[in-house]
Amino acid sequence: MDFDLTNEQKAILETARRFAEREILPRIKEEEFKRDMVEEMGNLGFFGCAFPPRFGGTDMGFLAHSIVCEEISRADSGLRSLFNLQAMTVPYTIMEWGSTAAREKYVEDLVLGRKIGCTCFSEPNAGSDIASIETRIEDKGDYFILNGNKTWISNGNLAETAVVYATFDQKQKHKGLCAVVVETDQPGWQARETAKLGDKSSPIAEIFLDNVRAPKENLLGEWGQGFKIAMTALDRGRISVGSGAVGLGQACLDASVEYANTRIQFGRPISEYQLIKGTIAEMVSLIEAARFLVRRGAWLNDQDRPFTREIAIAKYFAGEAVVKVSGMAMEVHGGMGYSLELPVEKYYRDAKLYQVGEGTANIMRLLIGDDALGIKNANRPRIHVPSDFRELE
Ligand SMILES: Cc1cc2nc3c(=O)[nH]c(=O)nc-3n(C[C@H](O)[C@H](O)[C@H](O)COP(=O)(O)OP(=O)(O)OC[C@H]3O[C@@H](n4cnc5c(N)ncnc54)[C@H](O)[C@@H]3O)c2cc1C
Repeated sequence: MDFDLTNEQKAILETARRFAEREILPRIKEEEFKRDMVEEMGNLGFFGCAFPPRFGGTDMGFLAHSIVCEEISRADSGLRSLFNLQAMTVPYTIMEWGSTAAREKYVEDLVLGRKIGCTCFSEPNAGSDIASIETRIEDKGDYFILNGNKTWISNGNLAETAVVYATFDQKQKHKGLCAVVVETDQPGWQARETAKLGDKSSPIAEIFLDNVRAPKENLLGEWGQGFKIAMTALDRGRISVGSGAVGLGQACLDASVEYANTRIQFGRPISEYQLIKGTIAEMVSLIEAARFLVRRGAWLNDQDRPFTREIAIAKYFAGEAVVKVSGMAMEVHGGMGYSLELPVEKYYRDAKLYQVGEGTANIMRLLIGDDALGIKNANRPRIHVPSDFRELE
């Protein structure tokens, strides 16, 4: 096993770090979505690591994607969701499952940040249980019609291109699901932003679909394959989510080391006290372990090997780790952790998402536990391998 990054991976990491220092950190307090930043990140190739050049990518792979995502999340975890929506769960899903027409029409604009994407799984009555989706899709011959409600849709109020999951027959549960690309500039598509705790540079919206149309060529995979598509999209999304958790954890550690070395109590920097040192050591260990797990998942994906189990372990561990580490950062900072002057309170707010998004901690534990107990093999052959579309080059 080689734990070193290639020169190419080191170079993109450096580019991401410089971008974060120059563009993100000076505006961090604003905690709002910035469209110009998405375009800049797209132009710098941040979303395109796993895509072929013809579709706006750099073909550097999923490990490179993970490294860039981690670095951006270290500056602002709220921007992490872009790596999901401008890379993994929207364009990559279209790339992997879409018709030639859909690939040509949507992928490049998303990868280059020219258009904003969103993924619509969640509904008021369907969160962890995606097979309970109630949004209906009807085949009208020349086109599809969609009706229903979605909740918790990241960038849903800004997106131009949505991947929507809907059912043609709820009684068939997961076998009744379809996935389709929807253009949001239609009268029947309405989005309403909803307030939330953290992750504020990525707004959340409720979506109301009222006779929304999608052309036939926008169906992803085959009629009734939506559940399988959702599972592959979520696997890839877990690379971004896990990487984001590691980046945020690193930010918590960076801030804590700096504070511990400068805050004087009882006549000495608090870093000299063993209890603080022990806290820092635990933070370091949790973050490094999470990083290795996430990078293993991304690396397996680069080898075209099954990775569902490994990325579930990584996402679960990284989510738990970042919640612990953000709490430790609050402790190291004492009262200043609670202050709005320093970013630690933001880190604490942002961290909790990592136990929820892209499958909750419990859902990850079910997947990992079922696999370990021989109940259900997590790495079932359900992954389309990228070579499928590299042939298009
Ligand atoms: C900031 C943010 C951004 C999001 N972005 C998106 C997005 O872009 N697109 C999208 O579609 N969704 C998005 N979501 C929604 C997210 O995917 C869901 O919140 C998540 O899947 C959980 O669903 P739920 O909230 O309905 O919780 P529920 O499924 O109702 O779960 C509630 C609790 O019960 C537990 N639970 C549920 N089932 C089981 C079980 N079988 N065994 C044990 N425990 C169980 C869960 O782990 C959880 O602790 C976002 C959520 C957040 C917070």
